[in-house]
Amino acid sequence: MRALSRLLTLLVAGFLVSCAAPGGGGGIGRDAWGHRPGPKGFRTVVIDAGHGGSDSGARSHATGAMEKDLALDMARRVKGELPGWRVVLLRDGDYFIDLDERVGMANRHGDAVLVSLHFNHGPSHLSGPETFYWRVDSHGLATRIQRNLASAIPDEHGNRGLVRRRLRLTRNPEIPCVLVECGYLSNSAEARRIENGAYRASLARAIAAAIKEQSAHGDAGTGPLPPPINAPMSRPTDAPE
Ligand SMILES: [Zn+2]
Repeated sequence: MRALSRLLTLLVAGFLVSCAAPGGGGGIGRDAWGHRPGPKGFRTVVIDAGHGGSDSGARSHATGAMEKDLALDMARRVKGELPGWRVVLLRDGDYFIDLDERVGMANRHGDAVLVSLHFNHGPSHLSGPETFYWRVDSHGLATRIQRNLASAIPDEHGNRGLVRRRLRLTRNPEIPCVLVECGYLSNSAEARRIENGAYRASLARAIAAAIKEQSAHGDAGTGPLPPPINAPMSRPTDAPE
């Protein structure tokens, strides 16, 4: 059954690729590849709170906080910072949704961007925000989110910043999509800051401001677009996310 659904996904993906209109004009319909400028004028945001249910994500040894709870809190806060917008939360409770299913849910929205919210873990000296994107049409939004978070987050040490990486939530959706790591839970100082609701509110404002800026200005001021890369859909076996 799983093999069959994979096969169908591949067939559908191939169909979409063959039918995809050439990029241009910052149009924001759905597009399987995203080889086009970033969107402008959109008013719908799909927010994915990472992990959930049996998948707790990272956990801070300093505070005991779990990534799944913080990600959901951030999703609700970002929504709260976007009054008058259509905001869809893929997860609005403590339950698990498979990554491929999240992609399918996001694909129901054609005139939208997808922002997946996470908190990081790694060697204890690392701190600061990281933003992942893959598609050309996601570069501007990712640049804006990373820029705004970097100015809202007081300390950065050894973090990778803006990273182009093929993940299931950066390659597979048919709308512009970014995955944001809002700081390291494995860094005790940063985990303690993250524990503070006012601090998380400032992160949510930074992310929401980046979304509004992208909608108002498109890619203007975000630097040259990266080259298109033809790469297959990301699979569960590719790399840990
Ligand atoms: Zn995560």
